[in-house]
Amino acid sequence: MAIALSNRYASMTYRRCGRSGLKLPAISVGLWHNFGHVDNYANALEMTLTAFNLGITHFDLANNYGPPGGSAEETFGRILKHELGAYRDEMVISSKAGYSMWPGPYGDMGSRKYLVASCDQSLKRLGINYVDIFYHHRPDPDTPLEETMGALDYIVRSGRALYAGISNYYEPEQAAAAARILRQLGTPCLIMQPSYSMFNRRIENGLLPTLESEGMGCIAFSPLAQGVLTAKYLQGIPEQSRAARPTGFLKVEQVTEDKIAKVRQLNDLAQQRGQTLAQMALAWVLRHPQMTSALVGASRPSQIEDCVGALQNLAFGNDELARIDSILA
Ligand code: NDP
Repeated sequence: MAIALSNRYASMTYRRCGRSGLKLPAISVGLWHNFGHVDNYANALEMTLTAFNLGITHFDLANNYGPPGGSAEETFGRILKHELGAYRDEMVISSKAGYSMWPGPYGDMGSRKYLVASCDQSLKRLGINYVDIFYHHRPDPDTPLEETMGALDYIVRSGRALYAGISNYYEPEQAAAAARILRQLGTPCLIMQPSYSMFNRRIENGLLPTLESEGMGCIAFSPLAQGVLTAKYLQGIPEQSRAARPTGFLKVEQVTEDKIAKVRQLNDLAQQRGQTLAQMALAWVLRHPQMTSALVGASRPSQIEDCVGALQNLAFGNDELARIDSILA
């Protein structure tokens, strides 16, 4: 068993998630990449310990993370069993279902049949009795929203999860409709998990004020655009990078010259602010008062330390925000 540092709560900032009783660390860690059976367990463990010792209490998973699908939950379950299980009550562990997980009509999308079975499978892989947050991973246009939200309510009521969340519900009206149904059922929707970064500003469509009025928090995934919003691709594609790895979701073609030209200018601005570009990109995501947490991934412990350093300088002058807008335009 690992012993966590006694000063682990000294410097992290915790933000209240919407109008709930739950606080999340301003920086959370997701296990989408680098925690699968194809990855190095010792490194996954070291990243988890580094995060927890920095006050990162929130670890985000989904049924399909790996590869192979399910293996990131198994890795985290192994870490809990052998190293950090004593700290379970100090952690917020989330999982999700909504993308393709097993063959046939019941292993994908948004039916009650799929969500309840998948949640049970996740709990088994994680080796825990409940997850803290269970999300519907993406909207399902063919299943009545009442059924999907009813399944989340049931998952909470049956003790499989403490809170319900939605992910990738980008249309404000759709997110509000989900929140209304859950509220009527007596299980308020805790949080929405969208993609948000300098390179993906889709949620600047009125979603954040809607979440606020529904009492929901927000946690931004891929705030570093999978690593593109760091200095790593300024001199080409490094061997040890997501774009270079065969199992990475970032493809070399997505690291375009146009993006890198912008990254270069953003990197200069970050340096003027005395930050790394990763830190400035996270501060920029966290500038919204409705943004509860920035959900980063990492391939090594030092990246988590660097990301947490963002909290040293979260403030932007209007001139800096205008400069960022003009670089991104
Ligand atoms: P990021 O945008 O934070 O990208 C993470 C990658 O950026 C790392 O793997 C690493 O890449 C690089 N990186 C991170 N920190 C630094 C640093 N300080 N300096 C240099 N490079 C750095 O997030 P992800 O795309 O990984 O997504 C984060 C989490 O969000 C996921 O793990 C998952 O939990 C969640 N998510 C949810 C989705 C949903 O549909 N709900 C979809 C996608 C993600 P490298 O390997 O190149 O070192």
